[in-house]
Amino acid sequence: MSILILLLLVLIFALAVWMIYRSFKTSVRYSIPKGTQIYGDLISEGKILRSNRYALTGKPDKVVMSGRQVIPYEYKTTDADRPREGHMLQMGVYFIILEEMYPDKIIPYGVLRYREQAFRIDNTPRIKSAVLEIANQIRGNYGVPVRNHTSSGKCFKCSFKDGCVQSLIR
Ligand code: SF4
Repeated sequence: MSILILLLLVLIFALAVWMIYRSFKTSVRYSIPKGTQIYGDLISEGKILRSNRYALTGKPDKVVMSGRQVIPYEYKTTDADRPREGHMLQMGVYFIILEEMYPDKIIPYGVLRYREQAFRIDNTPRIKSAVLEIANQIRGNYGVPVRNHTSSGKCFKCSFKDGCVQSLIR
């Protein structure tokens, strides 16, 4: 066997070990939460979740109930080495909605999963007040930010569409 082939085999082996290590590392941290799935594409038929109190809507990829805990789960097809701010706010919307839907349960955190890594997003008063602040801005209490796109699909998926005066899907 030539040296070149040997080196190639060693390289392939090292790559395989690295890939297994990475997938193990990310799946052990925060993959799909354990428990009973109570919401998700396959069982909810696209139903949009809603907070009547704050006029917020959301569509998490999955919600799992485990004992007294309710955990939202969001999957992004992009890569990120840290949670993106907009995605954290999206998780904050889910926290607000789920707290209203399940007043006798606890929503301690959500799981935000990117292609390579998953992150635990804690349900804190800070994240929820940031969501409500932005929702108020969008509704015009403090001036209306200018829409920066022309995509009705974006508005369709947006958690603020019910209160947004610039939504493209009315
Ligand atoms: S509904 Fe559309 S315009 Fe309004 S905040 Fe959402 S994405 Fe932007």
